[in-house]
Amino acid sequence: MTSMKPAVFFDRDGVLNEDHGYLFEPGKLQWIEGAREAVKAVNDAGYFAFVVTNQSGVARGFYAERDVEVLHLWMSDELAKVGARIDAFEYCPHHPDAVVAQYRVACVCRKPGPGMIRTLLGRHAVDVARSFLIGDKASDVEAAEAAGIRGHLFQGGNLEYFVGQLLRQSGCAATPDCPSASF
Ligand SMILES: [Mg+2]
Ligand SMILES: [Zn+2]
Repeated sequence: MTSMKPAVFFDRDGVLNEDHGYLFEPGKLQWIEGAREAVKAVNDAGYFAFVVTNQSGVARGFYAERDVEVLHLWMSDELAKVGARIDAFEYCPHHPDAVVAQYRVACVCRKPGPGMIRTLLGRHAVDVARSFLIGDKASDVEAAEAAGIRGHLFQGGNLEYFVGQLLRQSGCAATPDCPSASF
């Protein structure tokens, strides 16, 4: 039997990279301070590191799914340079008012829907109780809660520091001998 691992679900824009709106060109990506190190910390703690990102720019005709995939490959390469790894990227290309007809759908994957998180939970052996999401919008946290995991709002600053605190809390909650655990 495969042993379960907890997971950290990262929103992308506004959490891993600065959100300038409808980003798809690698040359324009600016990492949030501590973001790559935060992903490495999640890897080193033995958690899955997942990205769940709404990309309605596809539905709006600003860029193609292929552009999203190329950007995620580029991000993976940049993360690898610091020894960090995203285990899976999930994106939602839809929007109910899409310009591009094939993406005009009220889907369950667009956050606050839980679809992307549920897809990842279905594909990987995730210890849900110890998992959490980090987003910069209420809709991120709502998506997490709809999927049965905790959501935390990142309001800027250093992501490595923010994630480090959450990993320590998460570890303590799962360890009865942790002095700060409330058993
Ligand atoms: Mg965001
Ligand atoms: Zn969708």
